[in-house]
Amino acid sequence: MKYCRISTSEGPKFGLIELAQGKEQITQTAPDGAIPVWSGDKLTKPIALDGAKFLKPVKPSKIVCVGRNYRDHAKELGNEVPVEPLTFFKPPSSLIAPGAEIVLPIAVSDRIEYEGELGVVVGKQCRRIGPAEDVRPYILGYTCANDVTARDLQKKDNQWTRAKGFDTFCPVGPFVTDQIDPWKGVQVETRLNGEVRQNGNTNMFIFPLDVVLRYISRVMTLLPGDLILTGTPAGVGPLSHGDQVTVSIEGVGVISNPVIREN
Ligand code: MG
Repeated sequence: MKYCRISTSEGPKFGLIELAQGKEQITQTAPDGAIPVWSGDKLTKPIALDGAKFLKPVKPSKIVCVGRNYRDHAKELGNEVPVEPLTFFKPPSSLIAPGAEIVLPIAVSDRIEYEGELGVVVGKQCRRIGPAEDVRPYILGYTCANDVTARDLQKKDNQWTRAKGFDTFCPVGPFVTDQIDPWKGVQVETRLNGEVRQNGNTNMFIFPLDVVLRYISRVMTLLPGDLILTGTPAGVGPLSHGDQVTVSIEGVGVISNPVIREN
């Protein structure tokens, strides 16, 4: 299953993406909500993806993130490799759609960096997932995300609420799909103005997704639509006014956002 969330004359809707007439198109829509509930009713005329106005495909109650989940990234920032997952929040108000502007809060930060990441969308409420329990039934799908971070404030504040929490600091989308297997490995690549800056693979996670989901669900109830960011590979770097930053995840899609400084 692969879907998106689009703007229509009747407001935002989810769109199921399937092969129709030899190309990927939206073949049915579902009402807006935390996650899509498909009726099975096909559209008489599929909607082309070209020209569709993609919205952020998730409406999470919370965004839970894992820090330093790739060895080489922990090293590049001079940090120890963690012995258990390091988690933090981003507020849902930081989410933006594909193509929307990342706004640099230059009055308070002079080092704002991209972090391309695989996002996991929770499909089913879960709490205290057991050690022998399969986590996959709780995962609705995977998406592209950018954990934009004010690196100077992250160092200065000791905790990360401000550094990770500015409006526009979480581009996400455009697609959610369950057609990949992060345990086997998918490429996570970030380009800045077309140049490759990050190129990692989810088979290099320090903590694989089953460990991450069990760990988080031991602390808090995960709800349908919640978003988990799984950490960034090495190669993070600063964003400047006028940049275009693109995160590509193998088998999932591509999200690209322009960067501007705040007025
Ligand atoms: Mg991150």
